[in-house]
Amino acid sequence: MKIAILKERASGETRVAASPETAKKFAALGCSVAVEAGAGVIASITDAAYAEAGATIADAAATVKDADIVLGIQAPEVALLAGAKPGAWVAALFDPFAKREVVDAYAAAGYEALSMEFMPRITRAQSMDVLSSQSNLAGYKAVLAAADAYGRAFPMMMTAAGTVQAARAFIMGVGVAGLQAIATARRLGAQVSATDVRSATKEQIQSLGAKPIFVENVAGIEGEGSGGYATEMSPEYQKAQAELVSSHIAKQDIVITTALIPGRAAPRLITDEQIATMKPGSVIFDLAVAQGGNVEGSVPDEVVVKHGVKIIGYSNTPAQLPADASALFARNHYNFLSAFWDKEQGKPVLDEEIGTAIRLTRGGKVVNERLLG
Ligand code: NAD
Repeated sequence: MKIAILKERASGETRVAASPETAKKFAALGCSVAVEAGAGVIASITDAAYAEAGATIADAAATVKDADIVLGIQAPEVALLAGAKPGAWVAALFDPFAKREVVDAYAAAGYEALSMEFMPRITRAQSMDVLSSQSNLAGYKAVLAAADAYGRAFPMMMTAAGTVQAARAFIMGVGVAGLQAIATARRLGAQVSATDVRSATKEQIQSLGAKPIFVENVAGIEGEGSGGYATEMSPEYQKAQAELVSSHIAKQDIVITTALIPGRAAPRLITDEQIATMKPGSVIFDLAVAQGGNVEGSVPDEVVVKHGVKIIGYSNTPAQLPADASALFARNHYNFLSAFWDKEQGKPVLDEEIGTAIRLTRGGKVVNERLLG
């Protein structure tokens, strides 16, 4: 069984899909591992470190030649896979709703595309979940980036020259990224509040020492949909939420937005009118900027200043922490394949639940229900 790791080619991508640690573990399962030369350089992993872990270092063509499985961060272009075994598996982020043409190309080429972002949110798949591992880092980095752009300090400081007030930080969307954003802003000394549409998050916000800000007294306020994901909210709820946000946001120095709804554009949480009520010098970090943005006027990879407020958003926030993001992504890949390892066959055999959830293409066809519906 040959596993291939290519250098990522997408613009701004800094991560790599295997680490020396996972290369060694795959070798222990009996696999040969090939890594394209220079694949880990930006993530601070040298070719020598991979070689020491038992991997072969080669150019792109030799890396994929006769591969049974190709692991990626973002799905490689089909042309790069020429020479891989017919029906080879490719496990990576496919962004399947936005990049349907890539999925179709994989089907036409006969590869089996496994979409890591479709990993179901079930307990046994937690260790395989790249959205969680990467969102956690993104939530942390968003707060650091906001703190860096903020012209003031986060913690309260009592000095001989006078007192510096603690920054007020508001986290909108309390999933994996939001929880880490709360924890990070608290560690830096900010006064933190947070909101979500899922009422289960109230307790989580409190347990991290932050203040929950929630819409009450509106029918149908439970925003929890299938698989722990949020659903789109009713117009009544959206109106009540907008009013609540308006009154709260004017007093905030830092706002981090993380709200996503799978398969849809990110919900708009902050309007230009609301930004105008904030104090000059405040900072908003829009973690959903690549999915259409939670914040009116946010632009991927740019700092936009509106009404004296800086609005920031990276199109790929985990890529700002290449070493840790790669190490965790690589472990997700290993945990996934090793969990399904069939010793007798010397290869992974997926079960029905996870296989059906993440498999996009097979036998020359697009097979995933979420894409066919
Ligand atoms: P996500 O990235 O899909 O969304 C981020 C947050 O935004 C969510 O908490 C969502 O409720 C919130 N949101 C959506 N619309 C909103 C709106 N209009 N206003 C305010 N907030 C809004 O979510 P996520 O980070 O992937 O996690 C969601 C839940 O799933 C969490 O409870 C998490 O612990 C759970 N989870 C479980 C597993 C697993 O068991 N394998 C894996 C990942 C996540």
